[in-house]
This record gives sequence, C-alpha cells and structure tokens, in this order.
Amino acid sequence: MIDLTIAEALEKLKNKEISATELTRAHLDRIEKYGADLNCYITITPERAMADAAAADARIAAGQMRILDGIPIEMKDLFATRGIRTTAASRMLENFVPEYESTISQKFIDSGSVLLGKSNLDEFAMGTFSKTSFFGAPVNPWQMEKRLTAGGSSGGATSAIASGLAMGGTGTDTGGSIRFPSAITGLVGMKPTYGLCSRWGCVAFASSLDTPGPIARTADDAAILLSVMAGHDPKDSTSTPNATFNFSGKLEPVLGNGKKLRVGVIKEFADVEISADMKRIFDKRIADLESAGAEIVQVSIPNILDALAAYYIIAPAEASSNLARYDGMRYGLRVEGSDLLDTYKKTRAAGFGTEVQRRMIVGTAVLSSESYEVYFMQAARVRRMIADSFDAAFKQCDLIVCPSGAGTALPLDSDLTPLEYYALDLFTVAMNLAGVPACSAPAGLADNGLPLGIQIVGRRFDDMRVLQLAKHIQEFGGVDNRPTKIMGK
Ligand code: GLN
Repeated sequence: MIDLTIAEALEKLKNKEISATELTRAHLDRIEKYGADLNCYITITPERAMADAAAADARIAAGQMRILDGIPIEMKDLFATRGIRTTAASRMLENFVPEYESTISQKFIDSGSVLLGKSNLDEFAMGTFSKTSFFGAPVNPWQMEKRLTAGGSSGGATSAIASGLAMGGTGTDTGGSIRFPSAITGLVGMKPTYGLCSRWGCVAFASSLDTPGPIARTADDAAILLSVMAGHDPKDSTSTPNATFNFSGKLEPVLGNGKKLRVGVIKEFADVEISADMKRIFDKRIADLESAGAEIVQVSIPNILDALAAYYIIAPAEASSNLARYDGMRYGLRVEGSDLLDTYKKTRAAGFGTEVQRRMIVGTAVLSSESYEVYFMQAARVRRMIADSFDAAFKQCDLIVCPSGAGTALPLDSDLTPLEYYALDLFTVAMNLAGVPACSAPAGLADNGLPLGIQIVGRRFDDMRVLQLAKHIQEFGGVDNRPTKIMGK
C-alpha cells in the first residue's frame, strides 16, 4: 500500500478496494518503524490521523468523496496548525501551539486529507541540508546507511515522502527549498507562481519570495496537491485575485502527435560547474525532448549568475524584519533578563540558532542607512533585471529547463562553509526573484545510484504546463522512486 501514488490510492479508495483507515494505519506503522531513524517529523499526529481517516471513510461510504479524501500527507512545520505544535524547527517556537489554522493547512483539511504530522526543516526555513533544525537533521532514505542529506529546507518533507512515511504534502520555497530537496530524493517538487498559494499562517522568512508548494512522487500527484493549495486568499495581500489551478486529474501531454513546444536552455548556466553525471543526464533529457518533437532554443538571462548575491541580500533583509517579532513578549521563548533590553537580548540569543543569527546580522546590516543604497537597492535592481530577462526569454520559448542542482545528495556530515552552502542555491534562487513557477522532476540516476533532478520553469501562472513537461521528464528519466524500492524494505 505504501508504494501507491496518490492518484492510484484515490482510485482504490473510490472503488472501496482499500479504506482510508487501512491506508493511514499502514503509514503510521511505517512511521513507527522508520520515523526515528529518518528524523523526518518533528511532531507526529496519530490520533488526528486516525480521526481524519475515519471521517474520510464515512464520507466515501456516503458517496460524498472529496478531492483528497483519505490521503495521508505531511505538513511542513512552518504552517500554523490549530492545536498542534508549530515550531519552524526553532527553539524559539519549541512549545508554540497556534490558535489558528493557516490557509494552506485549512485547504488540506477541507479536501479530506489525513494529517500524519509536521515535518522537519531548517530553522525558519533557512538552509539547504535541514541541518540548522533545532531538532536535528532529517536523513535521506536513499542509501540510508550513508546518512546523506534529504536537502533543505523542506528536507523532512522529502525524507518522509521518499520513504513512504507520507504520500505527499507541502513544502515552502524561498530560494529552492522545495526543488533542491526534491531533486536529491527523486521526487517531484513544485514551486508555484508567487501569489498562487496563500502564505497566510505560514511562518514568514522572506515574504516577497516565500512560496508554498506541493511535493509528491509523480507530477500528476503534485498537480492534485496544487489544485488543493491554489487560490486567492483575501487574508494574504500578495495572493493574486482570480488565481486558480483547475486540474482534471491527469496531466495532458505537451509533446508528441505533432505538438509544438519550444524549450529554452539558459546560456549563462552552460559555464557553471556541475557533476559529470548531472551533465550526462541533462544532455540525455534534452536529446529526449528533441526526439519527442520539442524545439530546443538557447535563451539568455544575462544577470542570472548575480541572482545568488541579490538573493542573499534580499532574503536576510526581509528575514531580519520578519523575525523581529520574536522578542519574548508575545509568544514563543522568553528568557528573563535584568531589564527589558536584556530580556530581548537573552531571548533572541537563546532562541535562534547560528544560521538564523547570521542572517539577522546580515539583514540588519544591508538595511542600515549607510548600506541600504549600495546593497539592498542594488539587489532590488538586479532582481528587476532578472525578472525582465525571464519575460524576454519567454518570448523565444514556452518553457525553460535547467539542472535543479550540481550533483547528488552529499553526506550530512559534509563540512561546508556558509558560503559553500549558499552556492548550492545557484540554480534555484533566480526563479524566486522572478516569481515564476519552477518544478524539479526526477531526471535520472547518477553512477552512484542516487537521483538527480531537472527543473522546468514557466511563465507566471503557466504552472500547468510546467507540471506537464515535468511529467515527460520524469517518464524519460525512468527513476523508480517507490519507497520500498528506495529503502529495499
Ligand atoms: N537554501 C536557501 C536559503 O538558505 C533557500 C531556503 C528556502 O528556500 N527556504 O535561504
């Protein structure tokens, strides 16, 4: 049952071949078995899951099945869930139990899905290996004995979904946090167009970049999840009015039968160093696209290699402002000091980990009156140029493809400097700066047997076509990402 895709499970639930209760039990049993080793959940919600499953079974029996009825999912522990601890993987929020439900998690409740638990992540979603989590890093289920990273910041989500500890679920992507972890765990991870999915009730990192999105084992499953998540939310001022994602249940092919598709390859990425495996797989998939009838065109995003620098100014700047609210006064950790200022200092020093503190310092520095013009405004200009270049490129092509990262998952104990971690985001941050949709699809296996991902990037609100091409890439790649295959058990 663990290896079923969401689409397959929905079919079986509808035909009453399986029940939501059985399906949920199977996942909870598996969490019991592997959850501690994988460390992919911060909080498990077995009672809630069984109650959700029973309610789903009752609806199905009554002929009132909902879109995700009975599907066990994980929720990244950045989405506020009423009555369920929501930590952002930080000591600051270790015991925070929200009194409200985020828009996204509410949509999952309304869809009939079953909540298994809140998945692990980098502290406040700042990181690439999920190692900045106060609760320790999740582990990649691929070649588990090697203790590789499942990526970050949505590394708990990808660890859980790849291992069969959830059928799919949510992540958030500010600079790559859905796509990078999905790539190195053999999953489909979609960062939708900025504004398509509500950020309301999602712990803020960098508000102009933060994008909730789905993670699943197939492109069709990701599309089902996105259809639940998408939609205008008056509570989020950056949510786009009339934005919808209507999905019929099956992604239509965009290739074959004489269909015309122009696929762009970014010229400036050609000089970026990637692993020999990534290069081989990327070239193969481009060849596949061509044989399937796509026209491959070279496009230029002249400033794309500056995206990293712009991102690491804008994201910390916004974060330093967003995280100012954690001061020990209203909610979260409070460490008593000798006076008010001392209480602030002690609370923030104890509540935030090293990486979060680093970003607070960088963020406040680039926003200071001496640096604002040279750093923040300059980064904002680069951002505008990158967004404009994407617009121009999409006049020459319909979709763009590029690697999701340079290589396969690295060991969790790799000793990288902060700048080396930041450099891993080279292929993903530009899409957040531009607000365009981008999806990582499993594209092949490296010689070491580990999965590699390719990104499909589209015009704003062309999310459907992005997922349609992701489905082709996944089919060409032929990566077997069934949990019992990955883990051999
Ligand atoms: N790795 C990037 C960072 O550390 C992206 C994180 C994210 O998308 N949340 O900021």
